Amino acid sequence: MAKLILNFKSKAFGKIKNPKNYLGGKGVNLATMRKLGLPVPPGFTISTKVCDIFYKNKKKLTTKILKEIKKELKFIEKESNKKFGDLKNPLLVSVRSGARISMPGMMDTILNLGLNDKTVLALASKTSNMRFAKDSYRRFIQMYSNVVMGVEGYEFEELIDNYKLTKGVLLDTDLDENDLDGLIKDFKDVVRSKTKKEFPQNVFEQLFEAIGAVFLSWESNRAKVYRKINKIPSDWGTAVNVQSMVFGNMGNDCATGVVFTRNPSDGFNEIYGEYLINAQGEDVVAGTRTPQHITKKNNKNSTAKEKSMEESMPRIFRQLKKILKILEKHYRDMQDVEFTVENNKLWMLQTRSGKRTAKSAVKIAVDMVKSKLISRKEAVLRIDPASLETILHPTLDEKSKINVIGKGLPASPGAASGKVVFTSDEAERLNNMMQDTILVRIETSPEDIHGMHAAKGILTSRGGMTSHAAVIARGMGRPCVSGSSEIDINYDEKIFKVSDLEVKEGDVITIDGSTGRIILGEISTLKPEISGDFLKLMTWADGFRKLKIRTNSETPLDAKTARDFGAEGIGLCRTEHMFFDEERILSVREMILSKTKEDRNKALKKLLPYQKKDFIEIFKIMNGLPVTVRLLDPPLHEFLPKNEKEINDVAKALELPIKEIKSRIGELHEHNPMLGHRGCRLGISFPEIYEMQCKAIFEALIQCKKSKYKSIIPEVMIPLVSSEAEIRIMKKLVNSVAEKVQDEHNIKVDYLVGTMIELPRAAIKAGEIAKHADFFSFGTNDLTQTTFGISRDDSGKFLNDYIENKIFDIDPFISIDDSVGQLIEMASKQGKKQNKKIKLGICGEHGGDPKSINFCSKIGLNYVSCSPYRVPVARLAAAQAQLKK
Ligand code: PEP
Ligand code: MG
Repeated sequence: MAKLILNFKSKAFGKIKNPKNYLGGKGVNLATMRKLGLPVPPGFTISTKVCDIFYKNKKKLTTKILKEIKKELKFIEKESNKKFGDLKNPLLVSVRSGARISMPGMMDTILNLGLNDKTVLALASKTSNMRFAKDSYRRFIQMYSNVVMGVEGYEFEELIDNYKLTKGVLLDTDLDENDLDGLIKDFKDVVRSKTKKEFPQNVFEQLFEAIGAVFLSWESNRAKVYRKINKIPSDWGTAVNVQSMVFGNMGNDCATGVVFTRNPSDGFNEIYGEYLINAQGEDVVAGTRTPQHITKKNNKNSTAKEKSMEESMPRIFRQLKKILKILEKHYRDMQDVEFTVENNKLWMLQTRSGKRTAKSAVKIAVDMVKSKLISRKEAVLRIDPASLETILHPTLDEKSKINVIGKGLPASPGAASGKVVFTSDEAERLNNMMQDTILVRIETSPEDIHGMHAAKGILTSRGGMTSHAAVIARGMGRPCVSGSSEIDINYDEKIFKVSDLEVKEGDVITIDGSTGRIILGEISTLKPEISGDFLKLMTWADGFRKLKIRTNSETPLDAKTARDFGAEGIGLCRTEHMFFDEERILSVREMILSKTKEDRNKALKKLLPYQKKDFIEIFKIMNGLPVTVRLLDPPLHEFLPKNEKEINDVAKALELPIKEIKSRIGELHEHNPMLGHRGCRLGISFPEIYEMQCKAIFEALIQCKKSKYKSIIPEVMIPLVSSEAEIRIMKKLVNSVAEKVQDEHNIKVDYLVGTMIELPRAAIKAGEIAKHADFFSFGTNDLTQTTFGISRDDSGKFLNDYIENKIFDIDPFISIDDSVGQLIEMASKQGKKQNKKIKLGICGEHGGDPKSINFCSKIGLNYVSCSPYRVPVARLAAAQAQLKK
């Protein structure tokens, strides 16, 4: 069995299989730094196994463990030449947590442990510094009593403030020995009155209790919340590091600081950090004194009043710089380092991989390849694909004051501020007057498309990650927060309520589609920037991946954006989205509401030129690449006229009485439109609709071919197929129109006909369906909806409860669930068996989700298709999937 406690010099370190799992990141890194010959105060690590034993032993350390701790303490004593509890040369230690992955600030730390009424005097005489010794003692009482004995921190802060007030000074450092004596006494009184116990004088009791408290902090509320957000399993437990104290607060030749080996916000290759002279670790983060920059350059650019470390401690600065180089070279990654200077001697207290923004992550990875520190493969694997979205969209300037009033789903990334409007028309009206708006709707429908375009961002109180608002907003690159059940919208009064707050039309709010935050007031945003490094990384990624990346686009603007982002074709052109335009929607309504084929044909005739024009534009943009055009798939209710004006307009156009239009709307009403007369069912009932669309596709294609755009291969896609007969009939329809148009123009064109697989029956019958399909495109939005029987538009209301209660690990509309995955895999196999050449792809929202992309790559799909702004994400995720194979 592995040793339960290991000192930093222990040879056993090298023999442990996953050392970080056993000894935590901090412990392993301290031992590693020591091995590299760097100055690390001696110490030992109590493993996560002990944490497990502690909890199983009624939250107590066993006698065996206490014995081992005492044994390893001897190691520290020997190395430091000090003795724990000694009255001449006392050893003081720090007790710090250290989990497998760092959870900054989430667990507890105790410093200066080993001080009591007697050792404090010994420390004073040994260091010839009475003030320092007393200050360390009051700090220790403060920290220990808070962490171990549960006395609220403010009880002590209040006392310190009173002393400062009485003395008329601002800083803790202005308190003298007498003040500190008074504080120590007062602190002990507080402890006695709050806990009915004396502050412990036995140093071993202090140590054992402190270790127990750090183990207990693994179960603190903040640690639990952090674990939940970051998906860290609760059974990992934490390790504890006990280490000889070094002091940054013994005078002006002492300091403490935190430094990154590179700039964490822009990735620039310069050391970046802060330090404080004559201070202890917590002073840097506590904010009571303003730390100064480490480098002269950064200090100069700031409002700092004191000197940088480069200027005030030049020798130590040079040594630190050297050490940072060694650390980066060893870890081959940017490091976040804590250090202390004690009487002009530098000590390293921690190193870990530094957290950084996506922008800096990209720069650092590319720079490290340039300097041959890492390979291109490593660089590609190091970047979190989802984080790239934050580079592509405007982001909130987190330095601003942010007043969060509610939360929803982070449906489409980016941040936007504007006046609250409740209708699309108002969004458009204000947009024409150059005013920014946030469109706030209970949910959006196709009629809101102009408002969504006109608004800077969209907020809905209903609908999940694949709701209309979410899908369209992502496609447009508009920030969107969807399904915020916290907000209560009242269209009549033009207000929404959230908690006790009432937000009126015209009030300014900000939404952050990357986190789901709803914020009161305007917040400044930072513009997206695609740097040369970003492009470089993308090119490397492309070199590794096999999976093609297409886009879901139906407007020229989206298609162009996607191609610029590296899309290799269109995987889904939702033709119903081409009908939302105000000019066209009337004809669409005429088409839907007409009672006779003749009337329908009349309406279709009006729509044909629009469709043709759209296709020509898209084909030109995508010249040389495949374009999958999906024939009409509208849940009918999205297109029906809703108000009197719209009803009047259609009645006029169709020359029918309003009453008749209303009764027709009644006839068309569906109880469950998502499962109703949509997809190819519409093509079966009204073939003339699909005929018009095919005519537009082939005429557009031929027109392009006649000009310089010669290499376009359209892929005509039939939606919502569930049987062989449906695809057989629809394919016949497509072929017959294609033939007719080719004959008319006397020109031959290539094209494919395929289908979406978005219903469980289609997946089961994939072998039969593949007889008539050149390609399958998995519509995982509907496939998830129908596999689970969960409405994609209503899931936002309850899925959160499922996630919170761990019924689902993740929203199945975000990442492909394994049940849906099994259907896809089965259908792919059957499809290939029937038709070796069949092309396989996915075009549901999952096509932009890295985890789902990994799955698609694993089962050998040919492509994924996603919204334009997620194309770079998908390119990187596909490369990573290939590299991990
Ligand atoms: C799907 O169902 O996954 C799909 C892409 O089609 P839509 O979202 O348009 O229903
Ligand atoms: Mg679908």
